[in-house]
Amino acid sequence: MLVDVHCHLDHKYLHDQLDAVIDRARKAGLKYILTSGVNVTSNRNALAIARKYPDIVKFSAGLYPIDLLGHVDVEGLPRQAEPIDIEEEFKFITQHKDEVFSIGEVGLDAKFCADQMPKQKENLQKILDFVAKIKKPIILHTRKAEKDVLDMLESTSLKKVDLHCFMGNKKLIQRAADLGYSFSIPPVIVKLQHFQMLVEMVNIDQILTETDAPYLSPHSDRQNEPAFVRETIKMIAKIKKISEEEVEKNIFKNFEKIFL
Ligand SMILES: [Zn+2]
Repeated sequence: MLVDVHCHLDHKYLHDQLDAVIDRARKAGLKYILTSGVNVTSNRNALAIARKYPDIVKFSAGLYPIDLLGHVDVEGLPRQAEPIDIEEEFKFITQHKDEVFSIGEVGLDAKFCADQMPKQKENLQKILDFVAKIKKPIILHTRKAEKDVLDMLESTSLKKVDLHCFMGNKKLIQRAADLGYSFSIPPVIVKLQHFQMLVEMVNIDQILTETDAPYLSPHSDRQNEPAFVRETIKMIAKIKKISEEEVEKNIFKNFEKIFL
């Protein structure tokens, strides 16, 4: 009963071998895979993938902070050359409300486009207001803007919040944990001390698993994919000193609480 709450199955690398990727995920024990859109085209592609594998893949409607600005040129993902009309995309999401499992990834990015932070924040505020209205869980990208995202979240009443790949320092981890938010941990935890420390600090009831596939692979010679969630489970079991089965059950319970 494994879950991958955040990946990009519409990315060319995974999309080109999707049947095999899904098959390996099933064999690894995955029960739910949330595929995140990042822009207008990517949302439509992600929804189509969820429809193709309805028993295991769910659609997360995303508006990546950089795509919203219309600055994207990422290899393998549909490009977003023009700024996104956010209200139009809210309409699309509302129209497909029953098929939208969650909202994300959305958030702030201060690694790229830090000079446009006011506009990024304006967009994120619109998204937070929208999420409060449609009552879906939210999956957040917080790269180098962890404190700003927490500041904004704190003034909402949103409870079903997952911080994806959270790289904030101990103080920010503690603050997010105290606010009741969850953290989804990628398999790259096998080599990143930061995530090992995060798992040590945070109660197991606030931990989820993700891959961010095809990014953040735990293996230098292979791209990431949902089947690798197993490696995160192993590492959490080691850190928390409990069995893998117990970790698996606990994380599924956390998943049910937020997403089902
Ligand atoms: Zn992602």
